Amino acid sequence: MSKKILVTGGAGFIGSHLCERLLNEGNEVICVDNFFTGAKRNIVHLMQNPYFEVVRHDVCFPLYVEVDEIYNLACPASPVHYQHDPIQTTKVSVLGAINMLGLAKRIKAKILQASTSEVYGDPAIHPQVESYWGNVNPVGIRSCYDEGKRCAETLFMDYHRQNGVAIRIIRIFNTYGPRMHPNDGRVVSNFIVQALKNQNITIYGNGQQTRSFQYVDDLIGGMIKMMSNDKDFIGPVNIGNPDEFTMLELAEKVIELTGSKSKIVHLTLPQDDPKQRKPNISLAMEKLDWQPTINLENGLIKTIEYFKNTI
Ligand code: NAD
Ligand code: UDP
Repeated sequence: MSKKILVTGGAGFIGSHLCERLLNEGNEVICVDNFFTGAKRNIVHLMQNPYFEVVRHDVCFPLYVEVDEIYNLACPASPVHYQHDPIQTTKVSVLGAINMLGLAKRIKAKILQASTSEVYGDPAIHPQVESYWGNVNPVGIRSCYDEGKRCAETLFMDYHRQNGVAIRIIRIFNTYGPRMHPNDGRVVSNFIVQALKNQNITIYGNGQQTRSFQYVDDLIGGMIKMMSNDKDFIGPVNIGNPDEFTMLELAEKVIELTGSKSKIVHLTLPQDDPKQRKPNISLAMEKLDWQPTINLENGLIKTIEYFKNTI
């Protein structure tokens, strides 16, 4: 059945893929974005669709619309972007959550929060399970994002317990794919852009830190499954690909797939950079019958193709 769905941060990397999938499934979509890190070019191909509406709005301020479901994605996500204006990052996480939860409560909409593996900080438990409370520095340069997202999870749970709002929380692990911002400083986009330009590939630190990379299409499938599950499973649930790689392995793979002449160089490791990250996805498999299907090599091939055509 067709639904009216609000996607905040809908002009961003993940949001634009989500809007597209929801429209393809026959829904009406309202995309709300202030275009801080998102861009019209991410959604321009959807604008001819009469069931797609774009609203320029900052979620730190209240919003009045009537919808059945809300996906709350508005928040800069790359360390370079979220550290650019850290106060605004905490504001969008916390005030944005309060405003969207207030809206959900008033109009009785179901609401999903795009939380993050960053709530685990620099994790002492590996792989990360949802029951792990994390190891987060409250006063570091990543705290605006980590603590903002942790507070948003608290607000979601309290609106649920106190007001009966139908919530869903997913913890997204490192996601990549077409429409990533070429200058957002994230490792996958940095390495691909550097390799395509035959520039030095910049590894921070010794490159032994790990991440587990999920292709965006897998994430979108998991998000929609989580929103539509009617079994009262509210999460939090990890949505990520458990295949774990060091940054050195990623650099070598990108060089191989692009046939680049780039050389690897080592730069200073940023403060509080997590040493390892890998989701335990047993809960998503059990409750949502979900698991990723696209491996790193195949996902990188699609992403490299996109960057070849855009940069
Ligand atoms: P993105 O920066 O491409 O998208 C974020 C979008 O939110 C942008 O379009 C931006 O303009 C918009 N936005 C920012 N502040 C806003 C405000 N005040 N009001 C309205 N819109 C605002 O990042 P993304 O990678 O697409 O991430 C989307 C969501 O997923 C974020 O909430 C992020 O925390 C979460 N997430 C992403 C990853 C990842 O690996 N990409 C991992 C974990 C969680
Ligand atoms: N990284 C790197 N070179 C880059 C960009 C990032 O070695 O040009 C490293 C970074 O230090 C981190 C990992 O890659 O250890 C992932 O960084 P990203 O910013 O993509 O995401 P996050 O740290 O939030 O997982």
